Amino acid sequence: MEFDILTLFPRIFAGPLDESILKRAREAGLVQIRVHNLRDFTHDKHRVVDDKPYGGGPGMLMKPEPIFEAVEKMQRPDSCVVLMTPQGPPLTQARAQAFAGKPHLIIICGHYEGVDERVREALVDEEVSIGDYVLTNGALAAAVVVDAVTRLLPGAIGHEQSAVDDSFATGLLEGPQYTRPPEFRGMKVPDVLLSGNHGEVAKWNKEQARQRTRQRRPDLLEGEDKL
Ligand code: SAM
Repeated sequence: MEFDILTLFPRIFAGPLDESILKRAREAGLVQIRVHNLRDFTHDKHRVVDDKPYGGGPGMLMKPEPIFEAVEKMQRPDSCVVLMTPQGPPLTQARAQAFAGKPHLIIICGHYEGVDERVREALVDEEVSIGDYVLTNGALAAAVVVDAVTRLLPGAIGHEQSAVDDSFATGLLEGPQYTRPPEFRGMKVPDVLLSGNHGEVAKWNKEQARQRTRQRRPDLLEGEDKL
C-alpha cells in the first residue's frame, strides 16, 4: 500500500513513521509512505500557500493551486484522495479497514482556517475527522490515519499482537488482559486464565468483552437483542 501525504509540516511525521510497527512495515516493504511539503508546489519567490478568505473573517486559508498541482501530479486511477478535516465523518476501525483495502491514499493536511472549498469540491474523495475537537493542522491527524491503517495490513503486526481481537474489530471492546506474575501486590489473575482450559478461557474473554462494552460503550451494542 502507498501513502502520499501533503502537508506544510513534513517534520511532524518523522517521529511517528520512524518507530516500532510503522518503521518495520516500511522496512519490510508492506507500505510506502511519502511526505511532501506543499510549499514545493508553489512558484513564487516566497512560496506562499495561504491567502485571506473572501468576505473577510479571521485567519488565512490554504490556496487551491499548490494542492491541485500536488494531487494531480500524484493521482492515479486507483488513488483515493482524503482530506483531513474536523468536519468529516469520524475515523472508525471500519473506515481504517476500508482504507487498508485501497492501494493508494493521497492525504491532504490542512492548516490555518482550513483549505479553499474548491479543493473539497473537485479533488477530495473522502473526508476524515479524528474526533470532535480542532487541531492546529492536519499532520497529527494524518499520522493517526496512517498508523491505524498500516497496522491492519497483512504482516504488519505479528500474531503476538493480533488485530483480530482488538477493540472495535469484533464490534466490542476487548476485555481485561493479564501477564505474569500470577499475583502482584495482592491482586490475582483470574483463576480461569491459569487453568489451561482454552474453551473456558475463550468463553471468559467473550463474556468480559461484552460486560466491558456494556459498561463503557453501550452504544456499540445498540440494536443487539442480547443487550
Ligand atoms: N476552521 C476549520 C473548521 O472550523 O472546521 C478548522 C481548521 S484547523 C485549525 C486546521 C486543519 O487542521 C484542518 O484543515 C484539518 O486539516 C486539521 N484538523 C483539525 N482538527 C482536525 C480533526 N479533528 N480531524 C482531522 N483533521 C483536523
